[in-house]
Amino acid sequence: MRIVTEPEIYVVGRQTLDNAEVQRFLKDHETYWETDSENNSELIVELAGRVCYMSFGVKQFRKTNDAYVGNLINQGHGSVLEHAVWDLLLTGVSRSLTHELVRHRTGTGFSQLSQRYVDESTADFVEPGVIADDPELHTLWQQSIEASHAAYKELVAALAQRVQEKHGDLPRTQRLKMAKEAARSVLPNATETKMLFSANARALRWIITLRGGEGAEPEIRKFAVKLCRIMQQEAPVLFGDFEIVQLADGTEGVQAGHTKV
Ligand SMILES: Cc1cc2nc3c(=O)[nH]c(=O)nc-3n(C[C@H](O)[C@H](O)[C@H](O)COP(=O)(O)OP(=O)(O)OC[C@H]3O[C@@H](n4cnc5c(N)ncnc54)[C@H](O)[C@@H]3O)c2cc1C
Repeated sequence: MRIVTEPEIYVVGRQTLDNAEVQRFLKDHETYWETDSENNSELIVELAGRVCYMSFGVKQFRKTNDAYVGNLINQGHGSVLEHAVWDLLLTGVSRSLTHELVRHRTGTGFSQLSQRYVDESTADFVEPGVIADDPELHTLWQQSIEASHAAYKELVAALAQRVQEKHGDLPRTQRLKMAKEAARSVLPNATETKMLFSANARALRWIITLRGGEGAEPEIRKFAVKLCRIMQQEAPVLFGDFEIVQLADGTEGVQAGHTKV
């Protein structure tokens, strides 16, 4: 059994933009677009905003991407941020973290490891920092995880036997699924999981704001802080108003310059 304490985020997909098609559109409308960003996420947001007002060519008021997008964020014109999308592969996170993450319904997509299909007898477990820091609590936690995990493995074996006796005519995968889906009921919230999480910039900003805040649960807050750092590298103009701050308990949190756009 491996104990995990750090979430991992792999940026497996990010926004693309077909510049030839953008130029074709501009040419068809006898105009041009002056900007200074080479970041597709920042460009698509600026393009979306400019299409709303057809503010290209001589009608261009702000020339830099930062000034243009910064003004959109200031004005709370957040819908244009929905055009920039990322795909993130998450590992080293617990089932309790993902249970909280999937509550974000708008602008998000989730595909999570199935405990009905995937055998969890080699699962890892995510230990809360406050428990890991205390040797006595750590021992108590580890014993309880090991007991649940042992019960899970015993149940899978026993259930597989029962299902074989009762439904021997069913395909093997189906029978194993029936055993695992019942046995997983004893797995703890701490069970490590993997998830492909896709979201647009507007949703990501909101998730980082809520889940990076002082009131958020520490594991998801740590995740939000990591996510914030990644997004600030991915698109500084879209996430530049977030600040990583030190909280009273010594851990990090996130403060948003503009809370909800
Ligand atoms: C510190 C903290 C504690 C929490 N505690 C609990 C708890 O005890 N119990 C619990 O059940 N949940 C709890 N939650 C989850 C919380 O209630 C939300 O479900 C979650 O944060 C998702 O955020 P959201 O509702 O803003 O929606 P998102 O799905 O992230 O949507 C973004 C925004 O879109 C709009 N929107 C989305 N759906 C609708 C809709 N159907 N109608 C109108 N507008 C919509 C809203 O403006 C919303 O803010 C907690 C969250 C936090 C951060």
